[in-house]
Amino acid sequence: MTVRWESAGLTDVGRVRKGNEDSFFVDEGRGVFLVADGMGGHAAGEIASALAARTVGGTLVRGVDEELEPDLLAEAMKRSLHAAHEAILAHTMADPATEGMGTTLTALVVCRDGTYRLGHVGDSRMYLFRGGELTQVSHDHTWVQREVDEGRLTEHGARRHRLSHILTRALGADSADSPDIESGKLLPGDLVLLCSDGLTGMLTDRMITRILEEDAPLPDVAAQLIAEGNARGGRDNITAVLVRILPGG
Ligand code: CA
Repeated sequence: MTVRWESAGLTDVGRVRKGNEDSFFVDEGRGVFLVADGMGGHAAGEIASALAARTVGGTLVRGVDEELEPDLLAEAMKRSLHAAHEAILAHTMADPATEGMGTTLTALVVCRDGTYRLGHVGDSRMYLFRGGELTQVSHDHTWVQREVDEGRLTEHGARRHRLSHILTRALGADSADSPDIESGKLLPGDLVLLCSDGLTGMLTDRMITRILEEDAPLPDVAAQLIAEGNARGGRDNITAVLVRILPGG
């Protein structure tokens, strides 16, 4: 069975920050989607997330055009995340004002056979909304998530924790980049959400579910997620990329 898809992506500065350090990339025709959330002062976060989005997005677009086998595409994805890490560090060496800059990155390639490849570093997220249930597919690389995994903190405690923003992995920064590379299968009717923590910091999974289950056109869903994030404080930049899987023609 083959699938096709439709998509939408939107980013917003939020209600508190002056600049938007998030970047996203949507190439619907090729099935390449990503979200990156930069960090670092003096607009360095914007540079880091844009650099990573360009590096990884460019590699994936070329990989799809070259019709790479899915596993080779996943390999190329892994290498491109490392290349983005190195490019950010090289930029920092050349411009010390940007020292410490880094970015998260969550990249998705959807194939015609319905399989996907996911490359992920940091605390941006991939969610799958299937049959009315919202599931977080990516694993947060945060200090609080590690505490939750090791049973020292509850999910609820993690949300409220003052160190909830501390990343254990990122591209650039003073971090190990080691990305998670995963694969899975998407079915017609599935809705995928890639988002930055500006969304998940403001909205619980239950609030996101309520918006997704209205089944609105994707540009409206993206706008609604951002509007709701802003209504609940908009304390950070908010980015949402949505991909709805449809039966193939
Ligand atoms: Ca953020």
